[in-house]
Amino acid sequence: MIQTVNPANGQVVRTFDPHTGAVVEEKLGLAAKAFWRLRKMSFADRAERMRSAAAILIREKQSLGELMTLEMGKPIKAAIAEAEKCASACSYYADNAERFLADRKIEIEKVNAWVAYQPLGVVLAVMPWNFPLWQVFRFAAPALMAGNVGVLKHASNVPQCALAIEDIFRRAGFDEGCFQALLVGSEAVAKIIADKRIVAVTLTGSEGAGRSVAEQAGKHLKKTVLELGGSDPFIVMPSCDLESAVATAVTARMINNGQSCIAAKRFIVHADVYDPFVSRFAEAVRAIRVGDPMDEANAVGPLATSAIRDELHEQVRRTVSAGAKILTGGRSLPGAGWYYEPTVLTDIPDGSPAASEELFGPVASVFRAKDVRHAIEIANSTRFGLGASAWTNDAAERALFVREIEAGVVFINDMVASDTRLPFGGVKSSGYGRELSDIGIREFVNVKTVRIVEPRNQAAKRGRGQTE
Ligand code: NAP
Repeated sequence: MIQTVNPANGQVVRTFDPHTGAVVEEKLGLAAKAFWRLRKMSFADRAERMRSAAAILIREKQSLGELMTLEMGKPIKAAIAEAEKCASACSYYADNAERFLADRKIEIEKVNAWVAYQPLGVVLAVMPWNFPLWQVFRFAAPALMAGNVGVLKHASNVPQCALAIEDIFRRAGFDEGCFQALLVGSEAVAKIIADKRIVAVTLTGSEGAGRSVAEQAGKHLKKTVLELGGSDPFIVMPSCDLESAVATAVTARMINNGQSCIAAKRFIVHADVYDPFVSRFAEAVRAIRVGDPMDEANAVGPLATSAIRDELHEQVRRTVSAGAKILTGGRSLPGAGWYYEPTVLTDIPDGSPAASEELFGPVASVFRAKDVRHAIEIANSTRFGLGASAWTNDAAERALFVREIEAGVVFINDMVASDTRLPFGGVKSSGYGRELSDIGIREFVNVKTVRIVEPRNQAAKRGRGQTE
């Protein structure tokens, strides 16, 4: 069902008929045509349009923020900040794409050789609801600046966000077909991937969706970038500033109502600071204000769907029946809306859901580490490898964490957050490929090798013979 349901009260706001096969066909045709025009457009002309998109996002951040909060329940202040972050990504790629994709000369004697970065074509983006604008813009801004065009299959619970994004690019001056939303369910994705006009796929979402999309794309030999789930460690060592670590730990777990891929999910605390950390952390979590996400006074809103809340509660229940303790929380809140109490779990047995799965909601899992090696062992003990945050002022420990933690992103004395200037992505079951920065824009380009031998050098080359 493609519909907007307000998670704060469970009411259906708007339902959409999915696009028919004929509509999808028409949109893919438009996308293919738009690509032939966009690829020839200068960087300056693309940048002008991308800057207009940034201006629209800033001008309309309040209404866009309200739309995000309505569809998926994130606190309104964070939703408005998300629109601003999208604008900054548009400006960043408008300013830097030409430099990132400039020809790269390669010095070879008597030969003119270089690498050219050229767009690939129509890229399918399968996106999640949790950052309904940011996840899309961090793909779309570099993709369009590189000369690719995008078709978006957004999550079925944020259709109005999908249409709003399409509308922003259209109003920004991009040709019809450069960026289109397909209102389709996940069952329609395999056929779209198989379509010969689709050249590549990017997916941000769960591990299961990633496996399914990678399988389809593999069958048709199409490039993929996968940004999947995580169960990020947040390691606290005795040398750190404990007060900052506690305050950041709360934010890092509760961001986006606990529904962020890079939220800190497992708190791994050295035995020497375990008791003071845990008591302050639990106290701070207990004090969090939960309620209507449209009210700026509330720090945590509802979960995005009732199914997500049910699944989270089931994971907590199974972890507790395996032997874990609840320090605070552990219940769904009564009444309308899909609220869940901010929760802290300790004494978590190996193999229980909180130790091995991703908990996508406001539930913190705390582990006790004997020493730095034990902390790294716990950090690496899940199948995920997205981000990691480690708190220490000891140089040797920092070096160890940077080298040994299996993650695509390691932050020391800070919470993990995406930044347009830094590459973002995971290892292990958290996916592959990178978004953002200069590395992200090169994911969907043809890295074309060019080698030109001038006539005056032909004779010399003939004399040397050639191997493959
Ligand atoms: P999800 O259920 O995997 O949905 C993500 C998108 O994939 C939606 O558009 C969904 O469409 C589609 N989809 C689901 N199953 C599919 C399939 N078998 N084939 C093709 N498409 C499919 O994930 P979610 O619950 O929305 O998002 C939460 C997950 O995303 C978490 O695991 C989180 O960690 C991860 N995430 C990762 C990152 C990152 O950058 N690494 C960022 C944000 C979120 P429908 O809505 O129509 O089902």
